[in-house]
Amino acid sequence: MSTIYDQYETVIGLEIHIQLNTNSKAFCGDDAHFGGAPNTHVSAISLGHPGTLPRLNAQQIKSAIKLGLALGSEINSVNTFDRKNYFYADLPKGYQITQDNQPFCRGGSVMVKTINGERAIRTHHIHMEEDAGKSIHDLDPNHSFIDLNRAGVPLLEIVTEPDLRSGEEVEAYMLAMRQLVRYLDISDGNMDEGSMRCDVNISVRKKGETTFGERCEVKNVNSMRFAKRAIQYEVKRQIDLIESGGKVRQQTLNFDPETGVTSPLRDKEDAHDYRYFPEPDLPPVHLSNEQIELWKSELPALPKELYAKFTKEHQLSDYDATILTEERPVAVFYQKLAELNGNYKAVANLMINKIRPYIQEQKIHIQEFPVPVNSLSDFIQLIVDGKVASAMAYQRIFPKLIETPNETPLSIAEQLHLIQSADEDFLMTLVKEVIEKNPQKVAAYQKGKKGLIGFFMGEIMRASKGKADPKATNQLLGELLRK
Ligand code: ADP
Ligand code: MG
Repeated sequence: MSTIYDQYETVIGLEIHIQLNTNSKAFCGDDAHFGGAPNTHVSAISLGHPGTLPRLNAQQIKSAIKLGLALGSEINSVNTFDRKNYFYADLPKGYQITQDNQPFCRGGSVMVKTINGERAIRTHHIHMEEDAGKSIHDLDPNHSFIDLNRAGVPLLEIVTEPDLRSGEEVEAYMLAMRQLVRYLDISDGNMDEGSMRCDVNISVRKKGETTFGERCEVKNVNSMRFAKRAIQYEVKRQIDLIESGGKVRQQTLNFDPETGVTSPLRDKEDAHDYRYFPEPDLPPVHLSNEQIELWKSELPALPKELYAKFTKEHQLSDYDATILTEERPVAVFYQKLAELNGNYKAVANLMINKIRPYIQEQKIHIQEFPVPVNSLSDFIQLIVDGKVASAMAYQRIFPKLIETPNETPLSIAEQLHLIQSADEDFLMTLVKEVIEKNPQKVAAYQKGKKGLIGFFMGEIMRASKGKADPKATNQLLGELLRK
């Protein structure tokens, strides 16, 4: 049943803030890492004392340009900084240094898989901004606390064009962006530590209309789930408002995860005039083409490139390639193993079914995986060569290999008596035994129930504890049953 809501289309644009993983802050040497006892990562500069001067941390520029290059953006050669002025207790300087006129990057896009197929979500621009401190209102009924550890930490703000059409697309976009910043190693992208948060601009319009509706901006959303819920609530609110004859007013909103409801921020905050003006204490940063080209040459292989390689050159499925490219260290590990052992599908199976679950369960980094890659390659070869049944290899050899990573897979297979045998006497005994034990099934087979071959094979495999070579067994079984 179609409802009034189906007549509308949702339009969304995001402003994503990414906290960069630099060691020191944007304009001073203070520790930029998350955590630490309150107000311990603060020098006179973070505290905004009069007379202090900013000194640019060059790493943030490299990070911004790397991201722009990965998105296919245009890189600005002359970059300037501006002051964004406002008064708040967690902003001791009274302004944030940001970029108002000359952002590092303009344009570019990222491909996102949606229910309507793959779509490019365009980037409007990327600029830098230093973070403010943190106000803590929920520790004491009568007082607010201020932690300035975060004040001055470098952020990148990625502003998209209004290209997104649903909460699911927003989630897919944010996942793609988080994957990208992790590949580029410019941010950890952890939303629960605030390394990635976003402002969500939402409007609705009747399907088929060409102009956009008036938008509202939901501020500071710090989880993908909240983003989806905020969008769901806001879309319904806007459509109800329009349908009842009202008009959506451009507003800045707050989303309360407890109630699932958006509500306007104070009007004063909404009507903010930040009195932007050029930062007088920082000269423009000029970037030469050579510099940009050098950084471009240093970019790692990106998820979309690896995905293309894995699906085309290695002939892996979409599912396998998607999982293997999700995180860069896993992709790198797979590639190493695939180079050593060219049986790509077998390598992918081992990565996806065994190695990845193991490191997730143990909460270890893939580089800490105990078994050396050449040994893993030998392990795969045992299966590919038919020396060991793959179920036996996975269930019995693999756990043993993790326990004793210096033993060869072959010697483990021998100790466990798992080497498959094509020895005719050995197989003959097994096949005869199973035929003798099941005269009725043999008769049924001979009358045409050929599917029973699977039953006989299963019985023989079980009796041989996985050691019967399947190909030779199958052949012998066929011969004896035909008699
Ligand atoms: P600001 O006034 O915050 O500087 P911009 O006009 O640059 O805003 O847009 C900020 C964000 O809002 C961008 O991500 C943009 O795509 C998005 N946006 C702009 N207009 C709309 C709209 N009508 N509906 C939804 N999102 C919009
Ligand atoms: Mg905005």
